[in-house]
Amino acid sequence: MDCRNISITKAGILAWVALVSLFLLVGCTPPIMDSALTPRMAIHGNQPPDAPGDVLGQLAAVTVLYYGFDQKLHQGQVVVHSELAQDIRDVFTLIRQTHFPIESALPIAHPLIQAKGPFGVSPDTNNSSGFVWRPLVGMRWVSLHALGLAIDINPRLNPFYKHGKVLPPGASYDPAKPGTLTSQSSVVKAFKRLGWEWGGTWPAGDQTDYMHFQKIPPSLAQWVKGYRS
Ligand SMILES: [Zn+2]
Repeated sequence: MDCRNISITKAGILAWVALVSLFLLVGCTPPIMDSALTPRMAIHGNQPPDAPGDVLGQLAAVTVLYYGFDQKLHQGQVVVHSELAQDIRDVFTLIRQTHFPIESALPIAHPLIQAKGPFGVSPDTNNSSGFVWRPLVGMRWVSLHALGLAIDINPRLNPFYKHGKVLPPGASYDPAKPGTLTSQSSVVKAFKRLGWEWGGTWPAGDQTDYMHFQKIPPSLAQWVKGYRS
């Protein structure tokens, strides 16, 4: 059992004691706080100077719960376009219920990600994240991550292959490892049911992006074109 539906209220000290007793009784503990930034900090903090206010103003910081590779419940945050917030909540509910392990889910603005490189853009991470303002690798277009319309899951276990190059550097794809995505993964199926495209089915040898999911809601198609043409 996890603690998603148990929260401390203002009922006073007796209620607090009862809650702690309940945690002990059912063997669950409150989540480990990996990320608890304010929404403003998660979305607007530590962004490159050219990150458009138009984009930042449409993002949401979604609080998610997941089990880490330590088998313990963690709380993170995923920044995505507000129209995709419910999809992320739904998929992470399944991720939590199935104990699919997540290394971490920190926004790009989080100090631990910022410490890895300028504006948090570093290939050396296994962090799952959505929004990041960056151009597509080797192209002029902005990535759908730059519009909050994509998410990467456990990058070191689900690498990006393009013309013999692998990101993160040194990563390899082993479907037998926990936290790895395949076409049979319940996580992949959940994203697909919600209309997301999985980069793991893109042509091998060209660019196969096992970590990557993206979705362009029809209502945002014109808006997206404005940043990708
Ligand atoms: Zn991606």
